[in-house]
Amino acid sequence: MSDDDITPSQISAVNLQRAQRYIDSGQDNLLPILKYPRRVISVNFPIEMDDGSVEVFRGYRVLHNRTLGPGKGGIRFHPEVDLDEVSALAMLMTWKCALLEIPFGGAKGGVVCDPKSLSQGELRRITRRFISELGDDLGPYTDIPSPDLYTDEQTMAWVYDTYDVMHQGNNNRAVVTGKPLLLGGSPGRREATARGCVSVTEYFIHRGLIPALSELRGSRVAIQGFGNVGEVAAQLFSECGAIIVALSDSQGGIADGEGIDLAEASAFKKTTGTLVGLAHTETITNSDLLEIDCDVLIPAALGRQITADNAGSIKAKVIVEAANGPVTPAADRILAERGIWLLPDILVNAGGVTVSYFEWLQNLDNETWQLDEVNARLHQRMRASAEATIARWQYLQCDLSGNEDAEYPLDLRTAALTLAVDRLAQITAQRGIWP
Ligand code: NAD
Repeated sequence: MSDDDITPSQISAVNLQRAQRYIDSGQDNLLPILKYPRRVISVNFPIEMDDGSVEVFRGYRVLHNRTLGPGKGGIRFHPEVDLDEVSALAMLMTWKCALLEIPFGGAKGGVVCDPKSLSQGELRRITRRFISELGDDLGPYTDIPSPDLYTDEQTMAWVYDTYDVMHQGNNNRAVVTGKPLLLGGSPGRREATARGCVSVTEYFIHRGLIPALSELRGSRVAIQGFGNVGEVAAQLFSECGAIIVALSDSQGGIADGEGIDLAEASAFKKTTGTLVGLAHTETITNSDLLEIDCDVLIPAALGRQITADNAGSIKAKVIVEAANGPVTPAADRILAERGIWLLPDILVNAGGVTVSYFEWLQNLDNETWQLDEVNARLHQRMRASAEATIARWQYLQCDLSGNEDAEYPLDLRTAALTLAVDRLAQITAQRGIWP
């Protein structure tokens, strides 16, 4: 079975279809609403490059659903951004917010570009022009962007500034999250996604759900991707006593069974732009990293990394989906049949949107919370959602009515998704279909 050509939207559709088998059939007529994005915006805009030439860039913003509140979701800059992927990622955001009980809907955006070949000035002009093209389709109560692949605090500062210039006289800070601290960013936002990953992983281990893994201390962790999420995850897992045995970035990976020195890895990446070549480590490929002998495997880079082709070779006891959509449905099945636990993206990486929500609340009140308070609230929400997912999984295991059609053992992705979809369907029914 190969799933090389499956698109992100097809993955979302397969996952939703699988969850549907376990969802109360009384809600069937509401499910079609969730299948399609509510609003799709596609823009093409010219940018004057540093050498005086003019290039046209394409950007997308998709609002999947706003039943729970304004749209919320990252903006990514990447050559492979396309409408299919942005739509699938917007849908994931809808599930994530519903699962975490955050009053936002799902959205996502992206610009097709290669940020590595662009200067800061070009990136600034692309960001400003993209945001101005979106106009009033963004707003603190409409749709609120945040950072994602190859966008960061600086990008969010430009987003804020552009929107503020276009809407003078208001407190506009809540229009975007993941901003620099001085501009109304939240303490702990940069680390939030990785902190959430640690929180949920610890919780599953603590509940005794990962066979042969009784604690994080001493566990061997491999992480694909060394950006905002992957680098911080490496630091936080290491602070919990885990041994980081492999790391990678877009240029390749490094491994050391004794544990990689993270301070050295960060410093080396900063000076050379890659991890590859770090002293006292073995150079490996990104494919090697995924199949390395470890306890915890954390994909924290791109989507569709674990597929039917390599799922049978994964040696980890648990996969923690820090990235969005790193595992395909065919791989889900193989992993479930092999008894390898998968902690799904909509739960595991929801720390980012959770602290984005906290940032939004702080901005509306013109307040700044203390870091301890942010982290305590994050921890509480992540654990409550992990427990709710476990409870749903246990309930569905006992509820044989939906299992007749099950193709393979019930996984946590399906359990988490049914919880999110049930909540949305209930709220949609309470609000009623307009008019
Ligand atoms: P980032 O741009 O900061 O880092 C991306 C990392 O992935 C870089 O180290 C890059 O070198 C590496 N990479 C790129 N291509 C690769 C490849 N082919 N193989 C291996 N590594 C590769 O991005 P980020 O913010 O850390 O996001 C990473 C993932 O986490 C994405 O899937 C994103 O959607 C997801 N995510 C991010 C957040 C957040 O708060 N930033 C929240 C939820 C989910």
